[in-house]
Amino acid sequence: MWIVFIGPPGAGKGTQSRRLAQTLGIPHLSTGDMLRQAIAEGNPVGKIAQSYMKSGHLVPDPVTIQVLCERLSQADCNSGTLFDGFPRTLGQARALDDYLAKRGEAVDAALDFRVPEDHLVARLANRGRGDDHPDTIRRRFRDFEALTKPLIEYYERRGLLHVINGVGTMDEVFGRIMAALKLDQPPA
Ligand code: AMP
Repeated sequence: MWIVFIGPPGAGKGTQSRRLAQTLGIPHLSTGDMLRQAIAEGNPVGKIAQSYMKSGHLVPDPVTIQVLCERLSQADCNSGTLFDGFPRTLGQARALDDYLAKRGEAVDAALDFRVPEDHLVARLANRGRGDDHPDTIRRRFRDFEALTKPLIEYYERRGLLHVINGVGTMDEVFGRIMAALKLDQPPA
């Protein structure tokens, strides 16, 4: 299965998407992780990505798409992948569709992981990190919403979108994801 996971920062998306990838036996691909690794290696991609990431901007599409497609050409991605943090722009969504089409594949589902703004603020404020000031959280949330709206519409138009209520225990939320994908839960 080829699954796109969309959700705001700090909402538990990383945990849920890793668990889903593990359950399905497909790799969990986070472009954020890949770009951080490129920076750590100091390779040309890392050098370009660094300045954008440091200032909180998106890395340009051609760079991100190249990094992702190289990773997708590896054998462990033969039967599907869970995308976490990609696509973030319409250009990336289209590039992913084109790439998969050449392989005779297509995105099977896009999960829109929703947590209300107030809930996210309360949850992150409890964590008490320096960058978790309520105003900062609210701004990040609004930026995220504005950025992902066209993406969500893109997948909605294709009938691939599943809205997941991200409020609840880890197991409750995971159960909703499995139900949306019409997958059976493995026995506990
Ligand atoms: P993340 O770990 O997904 O929160 O990503 C951390 C940072 O990496 C983002 O703020 C961007 O600068 C960059 N990044 C990750 N994924 C993408 C992407 N799909 N497109 C552009 N930039 C990205």
